[in-house]
Amino acid sequence: MNRFVYADNAATTQISPEVLEAMMPWLTDGYGNASSIYKKGREARIAMEEARHKVEKALGIPQSRPDYPVEVYFTSGGSEADNWAIKGAAHLMAPKGKKHIITTVFEHHAVLHTCATLEKEGFEVTYLPVSDKGLVTAEQVEQAIRPDTALVTIMYANNEIGTIQPIAEIGAVCKRHGVLFHTDAVQAVGNVPINVVEQNIDMLSLSGHKIHAQKGIGVLYCRKGIRLPNLIDGGAQERGRRAGTENIAAIVGLGVAIEAACADIPGRAAKLSAMRDRLIEGISPMERVRLNGDAVRRLPGNVNFSFEGVEGEALLLTLDALGICASSGSACTSGSLDPSHVLLGIGLVHEVAHGSLRLTFSDYNTMEDVDYILEVLPGVISRLRAMSPLWERITKA
Ligand SMILES: *Cc1c(COP(=O)(O)O)cnc(C)c1O
Repeated sequence: MNRFVYADNAATTQISPEVLEAMMPWLTDGYGNASSIYKKGREARIAMEEARHKVEKALGIPQSRPDYPVEVYFTSGGSEADNWAIKGAAHLMAPKGKKHIITTVFEHHAVLHTCATLEKEGFEVTYLPVSDKGLVTAEQVEQAIRPDTALVTIMYANNEIGTIQPIAEIGAVCKRHGVLFHTDAVQAVGNVPINVVEQNIDMLSLSGHKIHAQKGIGVLYCRKGIRLPNLIDGGAQERGRRAGTENIAAIVGLGVAIEAACADIPGRAAKLSAMRDRLIEGISPMERVRLNGDAVRRLPGNVNFSFEGVEGEALLLTLDALGICASSGSACTSGSLDPSHVLLGIGLVHEVAHGSLRLTFSDYNTMEDVDYILEVLPGVISRLRAMSPLWERITKA
């Protein structure tokens, strides 16, 4: 009997029933414009500010006064927040002669492609290498900082291999050198405790659809005092920095989702990592496999293996036919024949990187899902290898 197992939660997650329930009134009767002064409008604004407070609480931001909605800006998602933070900081600092940015080779494309755009505008970008386990160190960051460094942008947790970076240490280095620090925390929220004050994070991006809210909503946290240029000029929404009538339903849903995700981080992590570890233990003894990423500094729901002599696309299609949704490297990479920049970044050769499989869990997965994956995966791998000229070459060598 085939099960249906959704194990691609790093790509997106299902909307939780509680999020949907919280959103519904704002999709139906609660259609007021949050800028309007009558009751229907005021109610929408109150709901939005409640959601903002939930985000603040989840990020360790001291609760703001009800009348100032600073620091947490709602955006259309993680990509927009990354773009705004990085381009905004670059353009803010350039007039001060600071046109150097530090990042890593294995960021999300929302960061890497933004940096590439800035390079075309004349900014200089240092791409720090990561270790074979997928980690950077605060020392690497410190050594790369120059007098003209405007910004350091390093992801909190990697979306492909799940490695968790030493964000507090990097934040401390940036603070000491007076350099702005942004982190893409899209994958980290709800999985690791975040405190932007203690960790010296100046700017942080997060996304709703990775934590059981809907697609198309996210947040940029920007520390008070950093005057990022406006992203969208227009009305006075989001303090005039990102104009446009707010999507109250999505914002309310994000608030509920982030509150739920961060309510019991250790408990959630324990449940997810039990599934992760059972899967890792089950796959590890297989022939010519390699766990990508660090075994310890790893997101609780992330498993990523390379299978030599296997082609990732074929693996995904075979698993799909068996009811398993997984991914090979990054969904953003599919459609191109280049293997994932993350797997190349940790030193895998092209052939090995091509045979990679990412399985990522959420609150909706169970141990039965893990058992089902372990039941079918070895057979799938053997069948694919039996048909693979590459495998023949590897094993004859
Ligand atoms: C999914 C993801 C993004 C993009 O977020 P969207 O809301 O889809 O724009 C950015 N960074 C990381 C690490 C992600 O996993």
